[in-house]
Amino acid sequence: MKTITAALAALAFGAALSGPALAQDKGTIGIAMPTKSSARWIADGNNMVKQFEAQGYKTDLQYAEDDIPNQLNQIENMITKGDKVLVIAAIDGTTLSNALANAAAAGIKVIAYDRLINGTPNVDYYATFDNFQVGVLQANSLIDGMKQRFPDVHPWNVELFGGSPDDNNSGFFYNGAMSVLQPLIDKGDIKIVSGQMGMDKVGTLRWDGAVAQSRMDNLLSAYYTKAHVNGVLSPYDGLSIGILSSLKGVGYGSGDLKMPIVTGQDSEIPSIKSIIAGEQYSSIFKDTRELAKTTVEMVNAMLTGGTVPVNDTKTYNNGVKVVPSFLLKPVLVDKTNYDKVLVGSGYYKADQLK
Ligand code: BGC
Repeated sequence: MKTITAALAALAFGAALSGPALAQDKGTIGIAMPTKSSARWIADGNNMVKQFEAQGYKTDLQYAEDDIPNQLNQIENMITKGDKVLVIAAIDGTTLSNALANAAAAGIKVIAYDRLINGTPNVDYYATFDNFQVGVLQANSLIDGMKQRFPDVHPWNVELFGGSPDDNNSGFFYNGAMSVLQPLIDKGDIKIVSGQMGMDKVGTLRWDGAVAQSRMDNLLSAYYTKAHVNGVLSPYDGLSIGILSSLKGVGYGSGDLKMPIVTGQDSEIPSIKSIIAGEQYSSIFKDTRELAKTTVEMVNAMLTGGTVPVNDTKTYNNGVKVVPSFLLKPVLVDKTNYDKVLVGSGYYKADQLK
């Protein structure tokens, strides 16, 4: 009995030694996220911490509350502390060049997370979703919705919203959407009543919902005193909520003034509740668990000399080089499939959506 106990204790001791001891040798991964004001980035951060730690890494997770100098500071600290790899979702994709030159000089690898980092050779890989496809899905959903809710209206009156102009993704979302909408505008099936088109006119700095809400207020009072709006292309749930409250403020969604079709992105809980309530029409689901998994695989491969998983080596030119990328598939979510996609996959629990 004694020998068995001793053997077991020795085994346990051995396991204890090799477990944490190995883990410590793997070093720290610096994770720089843009803001906690949106649930998706909180989920991204949490998923990465969980998955990196399960692989024996330490993590240094920082949020910058959408303040560019703050994020720069956080990244500089990560470099000084000797983090092994930096995983960065940039606030402004063009402001990190000097810091990343220092990272490269110190032998620290960099992954652009979700948003491309521009204007520097010192970004090794890019893990994201197919951003152009996000826009395509949003525009297709806008049209499907208008076909259902406004079958007898011609042309459909539509307004366009873009993301933050300093976020490289914004142009991809917009261009993807316009690849679907422009032919209908050209045919006269869709009318952009304000005439405001192009990212320089429709962008929303820092993805700020209040900015979108006040632009929608202005559009409604300047262009829609006689006409009705049938659809609003919104690239992100936080903007959609602002746009919807502007629309509700002038009576859309009550009486016989039907709510326009409003799109979104990220499947944040307030927007899914809004979809269930019949206000927002759709969103995009980006499974942050999967993006975290891809990123962890990239880091593991980089640090162990393995093959880094990529599936796109053409699309993402950052002005200095094409950054090898892994693109995940975005999924459209609306009233018909939110339960299956979001609850069925375990991303949310049913009672979070009540
Ligand atoms: C992300 C979107 C998000 C937006 C606002 C973009 O870079 O790709 O998923 O909606 O930022 O946070």
